Amino acid sequence: MKNIIIAIDGYSSTGKSTIAKAIAKRLDYIYVDTGAMYRAVTYYALKNNLISKTKFDVETLIDHLPRISVSFKYNKDLQFAEVHLNNVNVESEIRTLEVSQFVSQVAAVSEIRKKLVEQQQLMGKDKGLVMDGRDIGTVVFPDAELKLFMVASPEVRAKRRYKELLEKGHNLSYNDVLSNLISRDHIDSTREDSPLVKAEDAIEIDNSELTVDEQVTKILHLAKNIGSQKSDL
Ligand code: C5P
Repeated sequence: MKNIIIAIDGYSSTGKSTIAKAIAKRLDYIYVDTGAMYRAVTYYALKNNLISKTKFDVETLIDHLPRISVSFKYNKDLQFAEVHLNNVNVESEIRTLEVSQFVSQVAAVSEIRKKLVEQQQLMGKDKGLVMDGRDIGTVVFPDAELKLFMVASPEVRAKRRYKELLEKGHNLSYNDVLSNLISRDHIDSTREDSPLVKAEDAIEIDNSELTVDEQVTKILHLAKNIGSQKSDL
């Protein structure tokens, strides 16, 4: 069954990528983490001193877009595709709180969204894809066969993200993580271009009280029903 696109959107740290990865593995689908693409561009902006707490040189970043290439390369050992910026693996560099603090500003720039959305749409041309982000069901694949919208309370999300970052060896406080989530949600939901909103036909999943296995079972069931209906046509 390779005939559908599964779009997973939702607030920051709702566990979208964990679920998307597990679903893709079970269906033998391609998984694309679009947040990693916006993070890679943000990392580029930070490295080139185009963004800081006091300035954001949007014009120069837009001028540099033709020389910014974001790609994914499959890591057999880790069993997922790691993000590369101009052919350099930046998978761990993009997960820092510093990148998280600037990414929503960068992701609000239309020229940047246009470039990345075009690339994302190409990745879905053969279907068999699970993609997670903020605008997948609304803008990137408005015709996706299955759209999910993940929500969870800010505290549950911040706890999860805090634990994940500590395990990766980052040194930061729970409050920093919580305030970053709240601020990103706010910027992402109120920006002009492609704001984070639930698509009308998306199924909302509140996973505050659900385990990963419970969510995966539920979503696989939905995907299989849709996939088999399509094969009957
Ligand atoms: O998914 P993740 O939390 O890594 O995404 C980082 C940021 O990238 C989001 O807070 C949002 O600003 C931006 N993003 C976006 N559109 C997407 C995916 C991510 O604007 N499709």
